[in-house]
Amino acid sequence: MITFLSGGTGTPKLVRGARRHIPDHQISVIVNTAEDLWISGNHLSPDIDTLLYLFSGKLNTDTWWGIRGDSFHTHEEVKRLGIDEYIGIGDSDRALHIVRGELLRQGYSLTEATRILSSRMGIDASILPMTDEEVATLIRTGEGTIHFQEYWVKHRGTLPIQEVIRYAPTGPFASAEVINAIGRADLVIIGPSNPITSILPILECSGVVPALMDAFVIAVSPFIGDAPVSGPAAALMKARGLSPDSASTCSLYRDFCDLFVQDIRDPVPVPGSLRYDTLMIDPEKSAALAGALIEAGKKGKAGNTACS
Ligand code: GDP
Repeated sequence: MITFLSGGTGTPKLVRGARRHIPDHQISVIVNTAEDLWISGNHLSPDIDTLLYLFSGKLNTDTWWGIRGDSFHTHEEVKRLGIDEYIGIGDSDRALHIVRGELLRQGYSLTEATRILSSRMGIDASILPMTDEEVATLIRTGEGTIHFQEYWVKHRGTLPIQEVIRYAPTGPFASAEVINAIGRADLVIIGPSNPITSILPILECSGVVPALMDAFVIAVSPFIGDAPVSGPAAALMKARGLSPDSASTCSLYRDFCDLFVQDIRDPVPVPGSLRYDTLMIDPEKSAALAGALIEAGKKGKAGNTACS
């Protein structure tokens, strides 16, 4: 079994490739929930949604969010009627948010709600929210402290970041399912997701890092040189006092990382790293990278030496 730690773009591209090599029921994906929010009365979980749509074959892989070919009539009407719905939510996409909101209001945990939705969508993989507790990534800017989605989607990442804040009033604790998925895995893969907003929130859930130390873990860099392949990771790394590159990413994972993977184009080598073409511009590239990682995983033994 392979267990991934995932955000909503880089790692899902790798999961797409892994599905060419192993059946879905042998894949678990532990998913960041620090970007979740209630919006227009319904529950948006952006990274979980991407995985649900990926595994059910509906994902819009031009954007890596939402449903391919979705319409936006409700979104336009909601805005016309005066709600500042700053995230474009498709009509079919909204149906998922409505049902999840209802399940949560009925008292189901996020883990249970995701399992129910996965089953109704015919998904065999285990999609596991990192925690059932409330967690949010907030961004302190000169104009106040705002939710990460507001920073990235509403303001298009243009506001200077003063601080990245993780709001987690009750923990957070990893769910038992998450710890079990790491413990049972033959290989754990941290895909090329944003270290600050996608992977650190998972690592901050208590129980995750000790479990990873006992597992065989391969991590893939989302940076080539001093720039991410896409998204705001550079500004977020700098806000945490880190340089936006593979070496800093590796250092964040040093306590548990057994193999670190950098792109073949990255001009600044991290000692001991494996070099692959990590630019997953199509399903074949995703499959090739996933296949290489699976092969590397078969040879490896946990020693946590890659980034130390
Ligand atoms: P988010 O939740 O949408 O922010 O998505 P993730 O955190 O899962 O992924 C965002 C990160 O993926 C960015 O930092 C990108 O640099 C990285 N990324 C996206 N596509 C690729 C790719 O094909 N290869 C690599 N190496 N990184 C990628």
